[in-house]
Amino acid sequence: MTQDLPIRPTMDDARAALSTHFGYESFRPGQERVIQAILDGRDTMAVMPTGAGKSVCYQVPAAVMGGLTIVVSPLISLMADQVFALKEVGIRGSFYNSTLKPRVRPEVLRRALAGWYDLMYVAPERLADPDFRAFAAQAHVPLVAVDEAHCVSQWGQDFRPAYRGIADFVNALPQRPVVAALTATATGRVQSDVRELLALRDPVVEISGFDRPNLRLASFELTPKKREAWTVSYVRDHPHDTGIVYATTRKKVDQLAKMLDDAGVRVAAYHAGMTDDRRTRAQEAFVNDDVQVMVATNAFGMGIDKSNVRYVINCGLPQTLEEYYQEAGRAGRDGEPAECYLLWSRGDIRTCHYFIDNIEFADGVSIADQHRLHDNRERLLGEMIGYAMSTSCLRARVLRYFGQRMVFGPNGCGGCSVCNGDSPDRYLRVERKRAAVAESRVYGARERRARDLDEVAASIEADDVWVHDAPDEELFQRLRVLRKTLAGEAHVAPYMVFSDRTLRAMVRRRPRTSEELLEVPGVGDTKLKRYGQAFLDELTR
Ligand code: ADP
Ligand code: ZN
Repeated sequence: MTQDLPIRPTMDDARAALSTHFGYESFRPGQERVIQAILDGRDTMAVMPTGAGKSVCYQVPAAVMGGLTIVVSPLISLMADQVFALKEVGIRGSFYNSTLKPRVRPEVLRRALAGWYDLMYVAPERLADPDFRAFAAQAHVPLVAVDEAHCVSQWGQDFRPAYRGIADFVNALPQRPVVAALTATATGRVQSDVRELLALRDPVVEISGFDRPNLRLASFELTPKKREAWTVSYVRDHPHDTGIVYATTRKKVDQLAKMLDDAGVRVAAYHAGMTDDRRTRAQEAFVNDDVQVMVATNAFGMGIDKSNVRYVINCGLPQTLEEYYQEAGRAGRDGEPAECYLLWSRGDIRTCHYFIDNIEFADGVSIADQHRLHDNRERLLGEMIGYAMSTSCLRARVLRYFGQRMVFGPNGCGGCSVCNGDSPDRYLRVERKRAAVAESRVYGARERRARDLDEVAASIEADDVWVHDAPDEELFQRLRVLRKTLAGEAHVAPYMVFSDRTLRAMVRRRPRTSEELLEVPGVGDTKLKRYGQAFLDELTR
């Protein structure tokens, strides 16, 4: 008798799954290399920023490899949402963590053994459960994906002791699965910890996706008073856009939120000093598009998958460039143009030094280690300050920090305040021009004025994809309303129905049939069935 060998899925299978489930035509280059490595049976370490599409790197293999892919993740509170989002695209997910009632747990494991799921999110702590271990020994596990893999390292900011048990769990499985470590944190020290402590075997290392061409980066030195006023006027000038404003302390968060509220903006606030309940409500209001802007400390955002954030404003200096880029990177995850402002002052620099000088070390950290950690933090702060004050391309600078090389032409990246010579005022001027153009379109101004404005419009549109014309904008807003209604009915967040980018593509292409709708990036079979008709009705209205 010959044993049935599993048929190894190919990249074509993976591409087909990407298209059916997610509605995308092609992998991004980094995804392609990571998935190829996984399907080739190679351990992999993928270093990609939030929004680069790391989840797809294990979700697609999970859909095509057969058996049960185990995804270790520290984000317990998000697992149910993630499973929900997978269900929306026709991938069978489940999760196993402390929020599951003990009496449900055996049932979940029983179903997993019976082949109900492609993928299971597991909290790292559960890997030590005897029940879970016994289960995993019987299951066919082709892939263990370790999300937020930097949590294994003490040098990262989110050390999670249970991550140290992952290697042991993997080694105890009867057949060693492929191990894929994914993280957005790339400093050398953390990377080598990930390789060693997760016991990766000769891993394929992929560092990519740090360039986000749709993000406009700007760094402006502004006094605290000026930057608050700037922020309020920016938010008011963008009434149809969703954004996040980061402030450095709870008090400043409350102050800014109040200023915005006084200015008539629908705003939510989020920081660690609030009750869990209030935080949850603030987060939900933001994710569901019930408020326009979220003002928060850095406690907000990890794992928030809201793709239509159009701007992130940092009022104050984060302590590391990594933290900054992660926060800024929450803008424009749908690939549509988005803007990231770092508004800093000299006082911020002093405050950061002060924080670092007053770090409280855990018991048992030796004096020598304390010195090393302190120096490390100062070095990281140095990089952050270097970025804030940079007189050369901001994009090139941040990419170099993450180990990704990029060469731009003589005019620079074309999307940062240094390359474009932006200043805080000049920007505001563009905003005013934009408002004037919109106004002329609506009311049909006099000829002479219109000629002036045409010139202005041409000068904006030349360097700029940010202005959408009025009928398109109107249709886009209608599709957004429809999306919110459908999301409400299905009890999912609006972005789970379709991303802004997908809605924009619908507006551009004006599909009239299911076939044409299926061609739109972001529309897969499952979503076509579920939401297609409603969108076609709206598009052909
Ligand atoms: P990460 O896990 O790295 O934060 P996600 O996997 O959530 O990123 O992906 C970020 C966004 O990019 C999502 O809206 C996702 O649907 C989209 N995306 C992922 N892969 C692709 C692709 N190959 N083509 C187009 N969009 C993609
Ligand atoms: Zn630049």
